[in-house]
Amino acid sequence: AVQNEKGQISIHTENIFPIIKKFLYSDHEIFLRELVSNAVDATQKLRQLASFGEFGGELGDLKVTVSLNEEAKTITISDNGIGMTADEIKKYINQIAFSGASDFLEKYKDKTDDKGQIIGHFGLGFYSAFMVAEKVEIITKSYRDNAEAARWICDGSTEFELTAAERAERGTDIILYIAPDSEEFLNKGRIRGILDKYARFLPVTVEFDGQVVNNTTPIWTKAPSELTDEDYKTFYRELYPMSEEPLFWIHLNVDYPFNLTGILYFPRVKNELRFQREKIQLYSRQVFITDEVKDVVPDFLMMLHGVIDSPDIPLNVSRSFLQADANVKKINGYITRKVADKLNDLFNADRKAFEEKFDDIGLFIKYGILSDDKFWEKAKNFVLLKNTEGQYATLDEYREKIQANQLDKNDTLVVLYTTDPKQQDAYIESARRRGYDVLLLNTVIDPHFINALEQKLEKINFQRVDADTLDKLIDKGINNESVLSEDDKTKLKETFEQVLNNKMLNVSIEAQPTDELPVTITMPEFMRRMKDMSALSGE
Ligand code: ADP
Ligand code: MG
Repeated sequence: AVQNEKGQISIHTENIFPIIKKFLYSDHEIFLRELVSNAVDATQKLRQLASFGEFGGELGDLKVTVSLNEEAKTITISDNGIGMTADEIKKYINQIAFSGASDFLEKYKDKTDDKGQIIGHFGLGFYSAFMVAEKVEIITKSYRDNAEAARWICDGSTEFELTAAERAERGTDIILYIAPDSEEFLNKGRIRGILDKYARFLPVTVEFDGQVVNNTTPIWTKAPSELTDEDYKTFYRELYPMSEEPLFWIHLNVDYPFNLTGILYFPRVKNELRFQREKIQLYSRQVFITDEVKDVVPDFLMMLHGVIDSPDIPLNVSRSFLQADANVKKINGYITRKVADKLNDLFNADRKAFEEKFDDIGLFIKYGILSDDKFWEKAKNFVLLKNTEGQYATLDEYREKIQANQLDKNDTLVVLYTTDPKQQDAYIESARRRGYDVLLLNTVIDPHFINALEQKLEKINFQRVDADTLDKLIDKGINNESVLSEDDKTKLKETFEQVLNNKMLNVSIEAQPTDELPVTITMPEFMRRMKDMSALSGE
């Protein structure tokens, strides 16, 4: 008979180890990010211990050095941080998924309010070394008084060797003996490239090939009050050397209910169908994570450029976790709100400057309105409509402006617009002569924007100036006398239709005494709207 039992599930290390090495990260270059982050943590911990009064020695010049020996086929990551005793190696290195970083934070949780400093968390990063190395050696000496240096060696099997070693100063060397299938990493340019990508803004000096590779205090870590416009522009050039100057930017800074800092820049996008995407970089405690921010940043904000840094974005092994994460959803909402607030501030602070920028940011605002109801709630106050005379109006102002003259007999506001002022010139002129206003809605997103406004606002109807005769576009229920007989009208209409030979087009003959356009050739609003929309989707 089966005995009732409770117990511990066990793991066969020799089976699980290859899986960790192979599948922990899809990108093998990540090993360097992980080992440099550990070295940074080792120095940050020492700095913190000194601040708690637990380390009285000389901190010296805290730094991390990466070196390459092409002949010996090794890459070494060295630091002058806290180091490890033999016991600590057994605890933190030999136990997979036991994080010394978490252990440290737990131990000092009452003393440290600056928990943002330590990068490590999962206790897995170190083993990423075996993605590229056939053998890993650690030579380390703890900061503690009279500590003995220790050496740990492992060839990627589940067996290790731990011995005494010689090391004059406190700190750690991690020596990677690069495997034959990973020799691409024994290349100066390659290492430099990886460091530029992941280590560029790490908070502790990182040196490679005699040069410092990072800026330890990027501006997003500073208070906005310390920074000038020039600082923001300089940083933008640092991120995107070839780009035009940004229009403006938002400095993000929250610590509740999650931690997030960053700077988002509004680039000049104009009327471009293809936006410059993947220009936002995601960091966690100044370590570069990815520039695929798809799940963290709302889709319409992907047109922005800049940096987001949050230790609360889970850097799990797989990015597919991101979508489901509650923090990520909150971050998403927060960023949308901040962007809307910033635009609202700009609008209120300087209407004229806002109008001048509108041709650049209009596309972005309209895209936001289409994709996010919360954004719409704020944007409906500052999104602008521009008419053919270059005047701007908010939605409320515009309603006010045309109310008297452009209501049809059903009390629906008829908004006239053009998509091509040159081609539709005669229709625009004719509308103006009747005192009607004509909007310029000629960007790729406008057909969708028009549909959205018709759905969101009540009793409003958009008509392109050439969609029908003006009398039918704005039907006020008044019967106009024609100077032609019905018979003449029918004949004329038939003649025009024969010549045009296009069933999509309507011909109408009006010929009122005041008409500038006795014959109007139009395409129904719904048909041309379908055409405009398919142009945007690239059909
Ligand atoms: P994590 O960084 O998430 O804690 P890792 O697997 O990257 O996990 O590292 C495991 C532990 O090994 C660290 O938490 C730390 O205690 C120790 N360690 C790794 N590298 C160093 C180093 N350069 N100096 C001191 N301790 C280190
Ligand atoms: Mg780590």
